[in-house]
Amino acid sequence: MGVNHLYIHESAMSIVAHPDDIEFSCAGTTARWAKYGARISYVLCTSGDVGIDSPGMTRARATEIREAEAREAANIAGATEIIFLREPDGLLQPTLELRKRLVREIRRFKPEVVITGDPTIVWAGSDYINHPDHRAAAMAALDATFPAAGQPNLFEDLAQEGYLAHKPRKVYASTWGDDADLFVNIEETIDIKIAALRVHKSQMKDWDPEPSIREWASGRARGKEMAYAEGFRVVTLVDDETWEKTHPKRQD
Ligand SMILES: [Zn+2]
Repeated sequence: MGVNHLYIHESAMSIVAHPDDIEFSCAGTTARWAKYGARISYVLCTSGDVGIDSPGMTRARATEIREAEAREAANIAGATEIIFLREPDGLLQPTLELRKRLVREIRRFKPEVVITGDPTIVWAGSDYINHPDHRAAAMAALDATFPAAGQPNLFEDLAQEGYLAHKPRKVYASTWGDDADLFVNIEETIDIKIAALRVHKSQMKDWDPEPSIREWASGRARGKEMAYAEGFRVVTLVDDETWEKTHPKRQD
């Protein structure tokens, strides 16, 4: 089994910084995999609590609003669970503590795939700089995934709590760049991606995400035999033969 744009993994955990990051980057993919039976976990490092700048807004209230929006978005996409780590929004750092918290989640859920961002992206066009929290979350996610989650003698206290070493099979790093090497076909789920983005009302305000999302996703699909796509840089951490030996196929 090689990876192709139609392959459905058994499970995936998406690790991001903010409540709407998954919807912008990879929700077409998570929704597609969920639709065909994959277990999907969303891990949000922060709850985006400084991301609502309306008069009188407190961080506590913003946390409630944004977590509720994120839960609804996860439901729409068919995610199995959503985890809020409540690290400080706007100040996220790829600390060893965060790495350990992510290792715990990876060892608990045992995803086949970890989906995150690309921590090396700083520049993004002429009107945006990639948010430092996005870079921090992606770096922490990669460092937790490899090699830490799979090393039994690292974070032994987690092992004692029952979180045994788990090596994810692959990492998918969402990227808008030319380095994407896999384009997941999201024709069947682009409407779900848009619907999931729309429930982030505190962020969308009067902006209708639909035209932009369709334009970006059709741009990613250009030249391929699909209408809409999300692009990823994929790294294989466990080869196919080893994975299939150690993870028997689903019976469905
Ligand atoms: Zn964000």
